[in-house]
Amino acid sequence: MTRLRFRLLYLVLLPAIAVAAGILGYYSWQAATQYTRLGEETIAESTLLLVSEKVDQVEQELIRTDNAVFGMVRLSAPEAIEESWPEVAEDETPSVRAVMVLDDTGNVLGYSYRGSAAARREFLKVFQDSIMPDLELERQRLWRLKHLHATYGDTPYLISYKAVRREGRRFYIVAQHDTAWIVRDLFSELFATEEGKRLYNVVDQNGDRVYGPSLARAGDYLVGRRFPTTLYEWRLQLAPKQAPLLERQSQTRRWNETALVGIAFLIVLLGVGFVIWAAEKERRLNARKAEFVANVSHELKTPLSVVRMFAELLLTKRVRSEEKQEQYLELICRESERLSALIENVLDFAALERGKREFQMREARLEDVVARAIDTFRYRIENEGGEVHLEADPNLPSVMLDEQAVLLSVINLLDNAVKYGAGTPVEVSIRRQDDLLSVLVRDHGPGIPDSDQRRIFERFYRTKKDESDVRGSGIGLSLVKHIAEAHGGRAWAENAEDGGAVVGFSVQIPKQPAAAPEAAEPAVG
Ligand code: ADP
Repeated sequence: MTRLRFRLLYLVLLPAIAVAAGILGYYSWQAATQYTRLGEETIAESTLLLVSEKVDQVEQELIRTDNAVFGMVRLSAPEAIEESWPEVAEDETPSVRAVMVLDDTGNVLGYSYRGSAAARREFLKVFQDSIMPDLELERQRLWRLKHLHATYGDTPYLISYKAVRREGRRFYIVAQHDTAWIVRDLFSELFATEEGKRLYNVVDQNGDRVYGPSLARAGDYLVGRRFPTTLYEWRLQLAPKQAPLLERQSQTRRWNETALVGIAFLIVLLGVGFVIWAAEKERRLNARKAEFVANVSHELKTPLSVVRMFAELLLTKRVRSEEKQEQYLELICRESERLSALIENVLDFAALERGKREFQMREARLEDVVARAIDTFRYRIENEGGEVHLEADPNLPSVMLDEQAVLLSVINLLDNAVKYGAGTPVEVSIRRQDDLLSVLVRDHGPGIPDSDQRRIFERFYRTKKDESDVRGSGIGLSLVKHIAEAHGGRAWAENAEDGGAVVGFSVQIPKQPAAAPEAAEPAVG
């Protein structure tokens, strides 16, 4: 059932969370970008309005000029334009360079030009050779004002023309605007302010600048509009005043939004990873707890049945030999010791787990406590064919100890050394290192695999090999670690160079060395 729940968690719930986080991240990112785009569009729209206004102004001015110039042509006397127009041209139609009246076959009936005789001839030639065919005059509807904006040679031309009729005959009136004048005078006048000069430009079809400064820095914020009917090869462009700033801001914003969404997504992924890790840890701990209960029950049951069996045997009085009787009593003693050690371990462990274990610190000598533990244990070790030696550095200071707890720790280490050391000699040493006193218990058994040397201090952890071979509960070393830490020290395990495990723990030496008990002042009185 639990396995199924975990499977469900891994296979369904967590991927679902990750996908949901991904979708959420994507949409919030999109919403943020849309919001930004909306802002950008508003800016673009208001900029476009300004551009359109200026474009219209240019168009209106050119069309007004066309109407003025066309109004001066008298079809009854087309050649009169050569006299009448130049007088007013400068004031009323300053952009117009030439006016022409043609008949329906393209013959020039009247031609007035403002400029040198050579320029006048030159334009007529360009007009007849190149421009006129492009006007497609015979196809034009009557009275409609038309424009041609095109480049001949290297010069851009703007030609206004109109088909008209008088007494059943078709005529064409044509005016040539001077594009150089339009750029130089009309645009300069229109964008005369400081801002105008800085923010507007006009480009041709290829994007080459015809008028004004480069506006490349405005980036995406540059807004442009073509002149719809007159200078239709050209585009008027406007960069909003804050364009470079906006461009920079929007870049930073884009980065920030992407980074934020990325970070949020990463955090969710990390969270999911953490949940998986914690759930897996919890699952393993639960499995180990269940194993622990089974192990402890087994450990309680085995010595209890031994005690009971030999006690019953003795009670029957059928064991006559004194030697045998003594041997059985020893067995009973040993198994009950084992039982009480185990019970003590479990009780201590339970108290620690509930946070109820209080340490009673008193000044004591560590070597005395260790010696007591060895004494308690010596009988069992020697009985099992082993031997135990204690070696301590000289002049060890006394320390603050919970004697009972430290005794339990040492017994646990000795118990392991006997259990896993396979009857090899056990060496116990007490060493001083800076402000710590360490107790090291060494056996000459198979040692502890490197990968397990840290984990054996976890609650219920047992190495794979011993899990099945040796009886145990997996709480002994976790108790040792806890007790060592409560004494300001730590617990560790390693393998000796010439084989065998060394498991030890340390306790802190108080900063103000506690006076040695025997050196204490004699009681007064
Ligand atoms: P238990 O002995 O009840 O299994 P412990 O917490 O005392 O639990 O020990 C945890 C594990 O550490 C043991 O199961 C054993 O695999 C390993 N271990 C402890 N001491 C030794 C040792 N001296 N030699 C080899 N392995 C050891």
